[in-house]
Amino acid sequence: MMPISDWPNAIAHIDADCFYASCEQLRHPELKGRPVCVLSNQNAFVVAKTYDAKAKGVTTGMSVWDAKKLVPNAAFLTPDFRYYGQLSEKMFSILRRYSPQVEVYSIDEAFMDMNGIRSLWRKSFRQIADDIRQAIRSEVGITVSVGISCTRTLAKISSESNKPNGSTVIPGRRIARFLADIQVSDIPGIGRNRTALLEKFSIHTALEFTRTDERTIDRLMGKPGMGLWHELNGRSVYGLEKEAKLPKSVARTSSMGQVTTDKALIEAYLSYHTQRLVSDLVAKRIIAQRISVFLTLESFEKVGTEVRLVDHTNSLKKIASAVQKALGSIYQGGTKYRASGVIAMHILPEGSATPDLFGHTSTNQKQRDLVLVMNEVNHRFGNHSMTSAQATILGKRKADTIRFQYPLIVAH
Ligand SMILES: [Mg+2]
Repeated sequence: MMPISDWPNAIAHIDADCFYASCEQLRHPELKGRPVCVLSNQNAFVVAKTYDAKAKGVTTGMSVWDAKKLVPNAAFLTPDFRYYGQLSEKMFSILRRYSPQVEVYSIDEAFMDMNGIRSLWRKSFRQIADDIRQAIRSEVGITVSVGISCTRTLAKISSESNKPNGSTVIPGRRIARFLADIQVSDIPGIGRNRTALLEKFSIHTALEFTRTDERTIDRLMGKPGMGLWHELNGRSVYGLEKEAKLPKSVARTSSMGQVTTDKALIEAYLSYHTQRLVSDLVAKRIIAQRISVFLTLESFEKVGTEVRLVDHTNSLKKIASAVQKALGSIYQGGTKYRASGVIAMHILPEGSATPDLFGHTSTNQKQRDLVLVMNEVNHRFGNHSMTSAQATILGKRKADTIRFQYPLIVAH
C-alpha cells in the first residue's frame, strides 16, 4: 500500500441500526425488549429484525414459518413505508446540519462529504460522529452507526464494523491495521461467488486484497474490482452522488442463488426486490410510472416487460401488483431462470403533478430505455453481478443480506 496522508479526502457513512424494527419499537413502546420481525409485503418472509431475533438465528429472507419456530415470542409486523420514510427524513435533516453535502443512499443510510467539516465545527471527526449519533438518538429516537474514513467504501466498512450505535474513524495511517480484520466477504460489492474466487487465490482479508497487485485484481474482478481496490487503498473513486439529479431509473436485481423453474421462488425474489425498491423511492421522495420486470435465463439472456401505472407512485401495493402482472406475462413454466430484477422508470419528484408528461413514449423508445438500463446495470456490476448470489430468499441455505450494491440508483 502506498503511504497516504491521514485525510486526503473525508467521507462519512451513517446507517441506522435495525431501522424498520427500531421504527416499530419507537411507536409501539410495548415492543421494546421483545424481538421484532418486519415482514415482506405479502407477509411471506422476514425483511428486517432486531438484534435479539438475529441472535436466535433469524435471517433476512427467512420464511415467517421458520422464523416463528425460532422466536415464537416475537412480534411479526407488516412494513409501513410512509412511517419509515418520515423518520428517515427526520434523520437526514439532522445530517444536513453537519455537512451541506449529504447523499441519501437508502431509506436508512447516507453518505456525507466531510472535507472541511472539522474546522467548521472545531471538533475531531470522532466528536462529530458521536454528536451525530447523539442528535439522532435524542431527536428521532433510534440509534445509528457512523463510519468516517478517506473513501466511500472504507466509510461503509467502518460503520458496519461497529454496530449498533458505534462511531468508527479510520484515518489513512490506520487503514492497513483496520483492513487486516475485515474478510473479503465483508467488502461491499463482493458477493459469494467473488469471495470464493478470491479465496482460491489466497486472498482472505481486505488487507490481502489491497496488497494484491493491480493486474491480478483486474483479471479476477475487472473494473468494479479495480474501483474497490483503489478505494480500499485509500484513494477515492466513488464520490458522492449529487442530490439534485433525478435518477432516470431505480433498479433492484440479484441472482436467485440457483437456476430454478420454481415460480414461487421467483415471486419471492421479486417481492423482495419490490420491497427494497419501494423503500428507495420513498427515501428519495420520488415516484415512478413504469415498472419493468426482467428475468435472466439459464443462458444469461434476459426477458423483460414493462407495466405502465395509471399514475406516478411509490405505493408498495400498486408497484407490487404491477410486478405481479409483469411476471405473469413473461414467466414460462419449465423454463430455467437464474436472476431477476425490478426497475422503476419515468421518475418524478414526489408531489409533482404531470402524470402525462411521458405518456406518449413510443414502444421503441421504451424498449431502448429498458435495454439502456440493463446495459448500465451490467456494466456497473459487471456481467457476473447477475450471478453473484447475495441473498437466499427462502431461507433454505444460510441467508445473508443483499448489501451495498453499486449502483443503488442507475443515474444518467
Ligand atoms: Mg441500516
